[in-house]
Amino acid sequence: MNILVLGGGGREHALAWAILQNPKCDRLIVAPGNAGIEQIAECASFDICDGGAVVEFAEAESIDFVVVGPEAPLAAGVADRLAEAGIPVFGPSKEAARLEASKRFTKEVCDAAGAPTAGWARFDDLELAKAYIREQGAPIVVKADGLAAGKGVIVAMTEEEALAGVEDILGGAFGAAGAEVVIEEFMEGEEASFFVLCDGETVLPVGAAQDHKRVGEGDTGPNTGGMGAYSPAPIMTPELVEATLEQIVKPTMAEMARRGAPYRGVLYVGLMIKDGKPRLVEYNVRFGDPECQALMMRLGAQALDLLLAAAEGRLAERHVNWAEDHAMTVVLAAEGYPGSYEKGTVIGGLDDLPETSWEMMFHAGTTEVDGKVTATGGRVLNATARGRTLEEARDRAYAMAEAVDWPQGFFRRDIGWRALGKG
Ligand code: ATP
Repeated sequence: MNILVLGGGGREHALAWAILQNPKCDRLIVAPGNAGIEQIAECASFDICDGGAVVEFAEAESIDFVVVGPEAPLAAGVADRLAEAGIPVFGPSKEAARLEASKRFTKEVCDAAGAPTAGWARFDDLELAKAYIREQGAPIVVKADGLAAGKGVIVAMTEEEALAGVEDILGGAFGAAGAEVVIEEFMEGEEASFFVLCDGETVLPVGAAQDHKRVGEGDTGPNTGGMGAYSPAPIMTPELVEATLEQIVKPTMAEMARRGAPYRGVLYVGLMIKDGKPRLVEYNVRFGDPECQALMMRLGAQALDLLLAAAEGRLAERHVNWAEDHAMTVVLAAEGYPGSYEKGTVIGGLDDLPETSWEMMFHAGTTEVDGKVTATGGRVLNATARGRTLEEARDRAYAMAEAVDWPQGFFRRDIGWRALGKG
């Protein structure tokens, strides 16, 4: 079959890599792709958030299946347009994608479904929002309602931070995404990301991961898109998986179906775990990046069969064949990230890296200029490896990261510290 993947980050490189291992895939196109994806698949350039353009391209290239990587095309209704055109698509409808696109929507769905999450209130009036913060006190969490690329959340340890946060958000710092603010109770605990595939009815867990959001070692410094991740997450015991499915995921799916917006695709369930009990932090309507890189390493060729089954309502027929393995991904980022950083620096040493089912350097923000791979983004490469133990996966991933010749890049040296410390 001819397959189109939308996106151009490390997540899409990992998806493309896994899809290509499955003999069902005859031809793979990725739009827009990056320098690493270009080495394994065809790349195309068009506006992936324009449903009309995506359908037109898919029809012209006789595409049989579309996998949507990032949230923006989903929030823009690209999956709806493909479905209308009769092209099978992995990814939720625009209405179902509101589980990521609107924090208020998610909270309303959770309340209706009885899913445990932080207590909350919403405001579009600055004075009322401030009065609420003063009444609740700190710590407290302030969030822009809409998509803000991970930057619209302030976990405020003081009342002043929270007040400044609502002023920013309602003052227009995030445009329309900040027309409303959601203010939440601060939850303590350890975070984990749990991934389930959904076909509108059946849910199938496809692994848990933990990521490191902070830029600095020891999980310090500013938040980033993620500096590394590993899977499985030791904190997600079978009992916690069961509790998360029964108390959070299934009631949410039932509520979405009741609202006439059945959820199809992957649901990223962001959890806060305390005393063995899960509470929902957030849903995302796509695979996490970099968690996806670790998950794809573990799933390999079966990923395509699973994504297809989710798109076609056949998940009840499937199960995941888990190997006794662990995977880790280490993000190489441009010096300065998540603040300002230089673009266009040249990265060497990539040609000599191993490319096996145990280790892959997935590309994120790269492009090829005059035959040389250059950095175009903040997060640039993902050294990803599998092992029989997490230690083995870590050693392989770090050996790759060390072998890259990129003086303007850096990576954290302690990815997996929690899990490795527990081991
Ligand atoms: P992203 O998708 O980049 O993770 P986002 O903008 O969708 O971010 P959230 O996931 O809701 O935002 O919040 C970002 C981070 O803030 C969480 O991963 C968590 O660490 C912290 N956080 C969010 N809500 C709470 C809460 N109620 N209590 C404690 N911490 C929270």
